[in-house]
Amino acid sequence: MRYILEKLYLKNSITREELLYLLDNLEEKYRNELYRLAYNTTLKTYGNRIFVRGLLEFTNYCRNNCKYCGLRRGNTKVERYRLSREEIFESLEEGNKLGYKTFVLQGGEDPYYTDEILADIIKDIKTRYKDVAVTLSIGERSRESYEKLYNAGADRFLLRHETATKEMYDSLHEGMSLEHRIECLNNLKEIGYQVGAGFIVGLPGETNEALADNLLFLKRLEPAMVGIGPFISHPDTPLWGFKNGSVETTLTMISLTRLLLPNALIPATTALNTLSSEGLEKGILAGANVVMLNLSPIEARRKYELYKGKEITDIHQLKKIEERARKVNFKVDMGRGDHINYKERIKNV
Ligand code: SAM
Ligand code: SF4
Repeated sequence: MRYILEKLYLKNSITREELLYLLDNLEEKYRNELYRLAYNTTLKTYGNRIFVRGLLEFTNYCRNNCKYCGLRRGNTKVERYRLSREEIFESLEEGNKLGYKTFVLQGGEDPYYTDEILADIIKDIKTRYKDVAVTLSIGERSRESYEKLYNAGADRFLLRHETATKEMYDSLHEGMSLEHRIECLNNLKEIGYQVGAGFIVGLPGETNEALADNLLFLKRLEPAMVGIGPFISHPDTPLWGFKNGSVETTLTMISLTRLLLPNALIPATTALNTLSSEGLEKGILAGANVVMLNLSPIEARRKYELYKGKEITDIHQLKKIEERARKVNFKVDMGRGDHINYKERIKNV
């Protein structure tokens, strides 16, 4: 175990066998050692800074039917909403006043928002707010669509792969395929986006093999950002009643990701903060360095229920985030918080 941990820390690599051995034999003392190595790695790459993002959930309509998600089209109990252009800018204005430099526009896969509508909104954001990064999290679209949105000014794109195990992927995502998900991720990367992948921890049927394959997939893809959160069951989905993902396993996955991809931007996710009142602190101590705070209008928040009891920390609670980060020797950074290699690439141009 010592050899594997050392190899992870010094070489940022691991074989599948070693990874499985580690996951099968991770006693508490080794787990704590893993967290410590991951935390030290963040200090070496980005320093003791936690980047904040403003998250706007602009539509909860979705044409997909992911079994775990409260927004799935089969859930007829959700009150659906779409934010108008005016509502979107009212929220962003609030975030801008508070000094946010990244806006994440997230939603279900909602065909109402055509490329033209979205490109227009993105262009407008980039004109109104200088030096702001726009991140999209709007699911699968064609390569041409991703290109149009990139050309309109979008900088980053979050598209979790959810699980790299084909059988699990197929059984959870009716009418979707892992191959297409990966094709989308590759397209986004090739176009030039800073891409975020990631997975849900604790989906029904998950094994250590599945966790290992998620990590090895990330290592191969080398995304700029990695979102990892525990599964939390939602009453109006087919997965209601299944056990929630474990906080400990989520933290272990964050640490392993930090060690395999030292330069990745890794959030302490909302789902982690929902299952643990100290999710942010624990996440940072395990290698996370990003937090997303909600800037959606109050009426929308309740309706954007991916899972039960979603914890909402909003953009006005920066002070609280600062205090919590301080407990683990971190400071809030209000900058754009781009991926390190990305910045280097920009410098080289
Ligand atoms: N529709 C876009 C997509 O799927 O990429 C973006 C929005 S989607 C709500 C954002 C993420 O929420 C998904 O990638 C998924 O990992 C996560 N999610 C959905 N339901 C969840 C649940 N019950 N527990 C944990 N995470 C969940
Ligand atoms: Fe739609 Fe995303 Fe939820 Fe799947 S996870 S149902 S694509 S909002």
